[in-house]
Amino acid sequence: TEQLPRPDTTRVLTISNQKGGVGKTTTTVNLAVALAMRGARVLVVDLDPQGNASTGLDIDHPNGTPSTYNVIVDKASIADTAQPVTTEGIPDGALLCVPATSDLAGAEVELAAVVVGREFRLKQAIDAFVAAHTGDDRFDYVFIDCPPSLGLLTVNALAAAGEVLIPIQCEYYALEGLGQLLETIELIHGYLNPSLHISTMLLTMFDARTKLAGQVVDEVREHFGDTVMRTIIPRSVKVSEAPSYRQSVMTYDPMSRGATSYLAAAREFAERGPRNH
Ligand code: ADP
Ligand code: MG
Repeated sequence: TEQLPRPDTTRVLTISNQKGGVGKTTTTVNLAVALAMRGARVLVVDLDPQGNASTGLDIDHPNGTPSTYNVIVDKASIADTAQPVTTEGIPDGALLCVPATSDLAGAEVELAAVVVGREFRLKQAIDAFVAAHTGDDRFDYVFIDCPPSLGLLTVNALAAAGEVLIPIQCEYYALEGLGQLLETIELIHGYLNPSLHISTMLLTMFDARTKLAGQVVDEVREHFGDTVMRTIIPRSVKVSEAPSYRQSVMTYDPMSRGATSYLAAAREFAERGPRNH
């Protein structure tokens, strides 16, 4: 199969948008699988207590499973919490996932009692993981799937990442609320993480039958220029069915429009790089 270009150093991305249901988890899962199928080594960190990314990658995550809760609250390592994703077409060990359990919902309250360094729990764990995987062992991408809020979990994700990937649903209120995310990113950039930047925006759930969807695409491109990927993900029933089979659409229906679009997005994403010039 086609091999995509690999970055020189590990790219750590936070997938964020404080709106729910815009395609954060779907994008995380499908990009991760598409990239891992084509030569990349990828770690997915599920930072949403709902654990949808864990489910989509077929990782069991009942309470008690070593998880991102332990990373954030107990300073557990990625090595001790990550599980291999075993999917046809992905080489052994090329895709790992640190699952989320519903315990994670309590992590923000527990972190609130930590006075120093609570924003950096995830960063410490990811930095140690990246430092432990060099040379042939290097990981290409770390994707952090965020909850739909801007609390301490998302702050941990933004403090740990070099890049933000923002999925934008092609719907009327697409840009509403985005200002708050941009402000938060600006604050994190200023106070906690000077290397943080928005590298990628991906338009999702595009419905070609509506005039409105096209207008949203134009408006987002006008605001954000070539930060927005050329590839647009269409609304597709196959994409929404795949998680109920604990799969990505890449394996559930590889020839579907959803799968070919996410593959095109993965290719464009790998080729254009982190864009931090
Ligand atoms: P978020 O993580 O931002 O809350 P999800 O990725 O879970 O959003 O997506 C929300 C819902 O929309 C899910 O049920 C998902 O299966 C569905 N969905 C996501 N992308 C698409 C798409 N391109 N076409 C159809 N349904 C989609
Ligand atoms: Mg989600």
